[in-house]
This record gives sequence, structure tokens and C-alpha cells, in this order.
Amino acid sequence: MASATRVVIVGGGVLGTMHAVMARRRGFEVVQLEREAEARGASVRNFGLVWVSGRKAGPELSLALRARELWAELGARVPGLGFRAAGSLTLASGDAELALLKEAAARPDADRREFELLDPAGVRAVNPALRGEFAGGLLCRADAIVEPRQVLPALRGYLAARGEGPRGNGWGGYQWLPGREITEIAPNAVRDHTGTWHQCDLVVLCPGAAHTGVAGRYLARGGVRRVRLQMMQTEPLAERITTALADGDSLRYYPAYDLPGRDRLPRQAAVAERARAQLLLVQRADGGLTVGDTHEYAEPFGFDLDEDAYDHLRARAEALLGAPIPRVRRRWAGVYSEVAPENPAVAGHVLYHRAEAEPGVVLVTGPGGRGMTLSPAIAEETFR
Ligand SMILES: Cc1cc2nc3c(=O)[nH]c(=O)nc-3n(C[C@H](O)[C@H](O)[C@H](O)COP(=O)(O)OP(=O)(O)OC[C@H]3O[C@@H](n4cnc5c(N)ncnc54)[C@H](O)[C@@H]3O)c2cc1C
Repeated sequence: MASATRVVIVGGGVLGTMHAVMARRRGFEVVQLEREAEARGASVRNFGLVWVSGRKAGPELSLALRARELWAELGARVPGLGFRAAGSLTLASGDAELALLKEAAARPDADRREFELLDPAGVRAVNPALRGEFAGGLLCRADAIVEPRQVLPALRGYLAARGEGPRGNGWGGYQWLPGREITEIAPNAVRDHTGTWHQCDLVVLCPGAAHTGVAGRYLARGGVRRVRLQMMQTEPLAERITTALADGDSLRYYPAYDLPGRDRLPRQAAVAERARAQLLLVQRADGGLTVGDTHEYAEPFGFDLDEDAYDHLRARAEALLGAPIPRVRRRWAGVYSEVAPENPAVAGHVLYHRAEAEPGVVLVTGPGGRGMTLSPAIAEETFR
């Protein structure tokens, strides 16, 4: 019965692709449509952080931990994902940040996050490349890294090689159709820009931050917003940076650190406050450093990149490493979709947006800055 079920997925980002994986696991036939020749949205522009450390206690942490399990399992089957259980270090640069890290390490759920508070010598024992100035660090062993530029083609290759689910109808049960923009939705069907209708038992619409496209009228009621971030990537650094890194500014943004000590943090540097910047740094498989990020909430977004924010992030990275970072080779901005925190209907407890747009058409978007992390668990929940 299962092999007769046909699912059409719209969107070639990580949410769409993880839905393809989970649909194939259930034995469904899958056709995945993407408007571009290759996905080029948030899913390829991110850090590749599978980020458990900063998640809010409760359902958000549980979903992140389930996702972390699924990433590890997929990582073992699909080496191209570049999955590494590298952990992360969040570094305090002064007493107030260190006091907050201590509070975080004493959280009741600290062991689920695999937190351990380290003094500077302990930090250097874990990550010898850190020769700069810091007062201590919070190690989170649950955090992990994947390679965002490889994840989507690697998963598609795996699906095409019939890595998931029983063999379908002769074409392996999975079909990737890039260069097809969906322009119309109807019950159990979508139409692409060439006029072709794709009928099925279930459509899963994962359009990412395309809030005004074909999903626009379903999202127009509000509840989601868009956020723009700036990123850069350096040439390879010969030395290995063993964990992902975050600076103390990240304590101001992640819900796990919404503890009494947060109110005692000093103000961020003016440039960081303006750009809502925090330093996150991940070493890529080739040795390059992905460095970010900033947060812009008000539209219209800038169309250009703000160099002041980059100067700040570079200085922060160099202060922690105690050495210059290699030449920047690439800069870009990315936009993600997130459930809007100011909407009382979603405030705090809705982690992403899922709704039945039409009979047999499910719209899934809005996971925000945690979408790479949560994507396999979100897809699992859709089919559950
Ligand atoms: C700079 C940056 C850094 C981030 N870092 C992290 C991180 O380290 N860890 C983490 O967990 N999350 C991170 N995120 C968030 C994460 O990247 C996103 O939440 C996630 O990638 C969203 O995936 P998606 O598939 O919904 O969207 P997208 O990747 O945007 O994919 C949507 C796809 O749908 C296609 N599409 C849209 N409309 C149509 C249509 N009508 N027809 C056909 N195709 C269509 C688009 O072309 C696009 O390819 C980051 C985001 C950004 C921008």
C-alpha cells in the first residue's frame, strides 16, 4: 500500500530534502521540485551548526536532541554530509559572561546538553588553537557540524541510489526536478511554471523565506517574518579548530541563557549592538573558517553588505584565537523564515510553521535560525 503513496515536495532546501528522506523511509514515492537549478537559499548559506546548546528548555530542546540523533544516524550512512560530533565552546570574555556560563552549566537540563564549564586551561586542552584572551568556556558536547554546501546534493545522491525506503516504480522512488517553479496550488496537486500539473496524495510545500510566492496567500495572515544575516568564509587555516566557537555576545540571544545573570551582562560593543551581531565560527572540512553573524529584522533589507560588522566579527575571532584569521575568500548574506515572536498566537511555544494550505497540501516553513538543526525532526513530525 505504502509504495502507491505519492508525495510531491516543493523546495530543494534542507526542509524539503529532509521531507524527501522521511517520506522515502515510509516507502512513499517522492517527486521533489525546486525553482532554481540548484537550491541557493538559507540551507546552503548557513554555518552547518547542529546547535543544541542554546535551545530553550522543554519542547525546543527535545526536538533539537531528536534532530541531533537523526543527523548522526544520517551522517553515518551519508559521509558526504560531513557530519562531525565536534561539540562547541561558548567563550566568556569577562566576569559577568563567566557567571552566566556558570548558571547555564548548573541548569537542570545541563546534562542533556552535555555542558561542562571549563577554565582557560581546560578550554585550551579541548581546543589548542584558542590562544587568545578569555575567562573560561562552556563546552557543549551535544553540538555538531555538517557541511552546508554538500548536504543537499549528498542527500539527493543517497535518495537516488535508493538509500531510503523500498524500491518504487522502476525509477527508484525518488525524482529530483530542478528548474521548476510552482505557480499554482490545488487540492493534492501543484502546477509548475511550464504548466505541468503534479498530482499526488500529499504535497509538502517548503518554500523557505519565499513569503510572497505561491505560499504567500497562506502566510499572509502573519505569524512568520524574515531575517537577514551576514556571513563570510576565509581561506583554509592550517591548524585544526576542534570545536565550533561562539563568543559571549551569543549569550544575549539564545534562549538557554535567559537566566538571571543575563541582566548583569554589560552592553555589547556599539557596532555589535547595531548589527545584532554574535560571533559564531565553524571550521569547514577544507580548513576554511565560516564566520558570522548579524541579524536584520526590518524590511526592506539592505541589498549590500555592511563592512563594519565584518570588521567587528574578524576582531572578535582574532581575539579568541590570539592570531590573525586567514584572508576572507567569500562574503554573503542569507535570509531565513521564522515564526514571529511578537505574534501572541505563536509566542514562545511554536517552533516552526506547519499548516494545511489546501486539502492534501501541507505548508512547512519558519524554523528560523535553527532550521538546519531541526530539519530532520520537523520532517519526521510532518509524516507522523
Ligand atoms: C546565514 C544563515 C546562517 C544560519 N545558520 C544556521 C545554523 O548554523 N544552524 C541552523 O540550525 N540553522 C541555521 N540557519 C537557518 C537555516 O539555514 C534555515 O532555517 C533552513 O535552511 C531553512 O530551510 P528551508 O528548506 O526551509 O529554506 P531554503 O533553504 O530557503 O529552501 C527553500 C527552497 O524553496 C525553493 N522555492 C521557493 N518557492 C518555490 C516555488 N514556488 N517553487 C519551487 N521552489 C521554490 C527556493 O528556491 C529554495 O531553494 C541559518 C540561516 C542563515 C540565513
